[in-house]
Amino acid sequence: MTDIPSASSTAGFSSSPNVLAGSSLAVRHERGERQAFCGLSGIVWLHRKMQDSFFLVVGSRTCAHMMQSAAGVMIFAEPRFGTALLQDRDLAGLADANDELDRVVRELLARRPDIGTLFLVATCPSEVIKLDLDTAAARLQQAHGGRVRILAYSGSGLDTSFTQGEDSCLRALVPHLPELPAMQRSLLVVGSLADVVEDQFQRLFDKLGIGPVHFLPPRRAADLPPVGPGTFLIAAQPFVGETMDALRERGSQLITAPFPFGIEGTRAWLLAIAAAWGISTQQVDEVIAAPAARAKTALARYREQLGGKRVSFLPDSQLEIPLGRFLARECGMQLGELGVPYLDRRLMEPELALLPKDTQLTEGQDLEPQLERLRAERPDITVCGLGLANPLEAEGLTTKWAIELVFTPIQGFDQAADLAELFARPLNRRQRLGF
Ligand code: SF4
Repeated sequence: MTDIPSASSTAGFSSSPNVLAGSSLAVRHERGERQAFCGLSGIVWLHRKMQDSFFLVVGSRTCAHMMQSAAGVMIFAEPRFGTALLQDRDLAGLADANDELDRVVRELLARRPDIGTLFLVATCPSEVIKLDLDTAAARLQQAHGGRVRILAYSGSGLDTSFTQGEDSCLRALVPHLPELPAMQRSLLVVGSLADVVEDQFQRLFDKLGIGPVHFLPPRRAADLPPVGPGTFLIAAQPFVGETMDALRERGSQLITAPFPFGIEGTRAWLLAIAAAWGISTQQVDEVIAAPAARAKTALARYREQLGGKRVSFLPDSQLEIPLGRFLARECGMQLGELGVPYLDRRLMEPELALLPKDTQLTEGQDLEPQLERLRAERPDITVCGLGLANPLEAEGLTTKWAIELVFTPIQGFDQAADLAELFARPLNRRQRLGF
């Protein structure tokens, strides 16, 4: 088994799986060695989503290499993220590190007047030397006030998993959201969506008479959506639990629903939102009839390819449960072990109710025993992180990279077939290669 240095790989916990009864499914809880990208990965899609933002990773060369691996670009080309490297000298004294950070930010802002919001992103090294980036952000905000908003959040592998970086980033924005005027009602969709998907949902909301609708993150970090007691919140991604908590503390109301993956998930998601607006199921079904019918036709051929095939998930992206539900119920796949990094029951309960009753759900990870179970099971396709995909392929298992599912447009009716195709493609490739 090979490992990659940029992945967060935490050993040392006792590994003692136990099986506890959940509200509807048996859940195996595991704690031990885990392998997943850290929260820095979120920068890969967040910097594309928020066009006026810049992410300054305050970390080591390992963090810079991690960004390079995850983004597949040369980080020193400095698109809208970069790394302030902590050197040995910084590790020797916090005063030096703070001075260095101030200098790097000063030079960056002078060079890049297009930056509207600058995120200082904490890493394992900055947290180990206790470099307080919240205080640094406040200090730098004062120094550069008016010109740019400067915020801090953690992408550290010490306390975040792969997609939690986005949750930490969005949560950092919440105190800065303007107040929704009293007596007004609005919908806030939380979690990054591709612009094309946002536009499709916006058109459906318009037809249903639901609005005004805002999205978090916004396309420009400067255009922060308002929030208040009249705001209804719905998650578009399953990894935004802490952001939802912070938004609820601003008085807004949570709508829970299955996530908008596949026809069933998208319909259920829209129905839950429509119910908060007093719109009937019949009205929703009339508005979605055409895109749902298109999706059904497009999905049919993938159901033929995927039906009866077995898919397992190693815990990585937090998308595992809604994807498993989609593959089982709409593509006819059999679920092997379904691993999730953590189980946020509040957001996930509507999804759990739709999973097959015999689903083997595992929360957390103890890598080696999990890999042994996977080898014994030998599913047709395994969804896992980049660090595990190549070694598993070398063992003859077909894999799908979890990270690809996070930054590919897969939500909504028009993407249902594209989502199925992402799973059909590796199976077809292996078939063509004659394995
Ligand atoms: Fe590795 Fe931690 Fe840096 Fe992530 S933040 S790349 S886990 S050192």
